[in-house]
Amino acid sequence: MFDKGSPPPRSLALPAGWSNRTALPIDVQGREVILESYGYQGSNEQEQILVLIHRPANVPDAVVPLVRIHSGCVTGDVFRSLRCDCHQQLQLALRVICKATYGVMLYFPYHEGRGIGLFKKMQAYARQDCGSDTVDANIEVGAAVDARDYTLAAKILTDLGSPVVRLLTNNPEKARALSLNGVRVVDCVPVRIEPNKHSARYLMTKRKRMSHDI
Ligand SMILES: [Zn+2]
Repeated sequence: MFDKGSPPPRSLALPAGWSNRTALPIDVQGREVILESYGYQGSNEQEQILVLIHRPANVPDAVVPLVRIHSGCVTGDVFRSLRCDCHQQLQLALRVICKATYGVMLYFPYHEGRGIGLFKKMQAYARQDCGSDTVDANIEVGAAVDARDYTLAAKILTDLGSPVVRLLTNNPEKARALSLNGVRVVDCVPVRIEPNKHSARYLMTKRKRMSHDI
């Protein structure tokens, strides 16, 4: 069970006396792990975030949390699509977080398709089937190459009392965006997944055109 004695986030947008802090038991490689969990909401109801925390009781304040900011991907996370590495990255990140002394997962469902949404993402997939890479396909369907914003992630980390983090990511842009919003990233820990025949081109485009460290 998580440490119920630790203080909840300071500024959850809930009426006084209410909380959405709860315990979420999950299966990690056949082992039950109980995580401290919260729902957060941004400036509108579309911006909903799940926060999962692995923090056993009595973790010293000096411990820097290991944080994953995961963009939701229905095709990958839920249906294990092989076109991307999202499912494997999510599972690997959960395993690492649940082994860490203090680990945090911020899950952003509305960052689907790098923030362009499921509908446009599927349209972009169709363009990729015609030969475009992932960057060009987004442009061809009139979408941003990457529409994600990490301001809210930085606010949540600050709210959780974690303005200094180690970040589980291959994406230097996430670390840069957090730094610009007041969260100090002391280390980037890569989440590398072996490509398969479906994802090889997608991963190569991430490396060559989006500066991912993979
Ligand atoms: Zn994906």
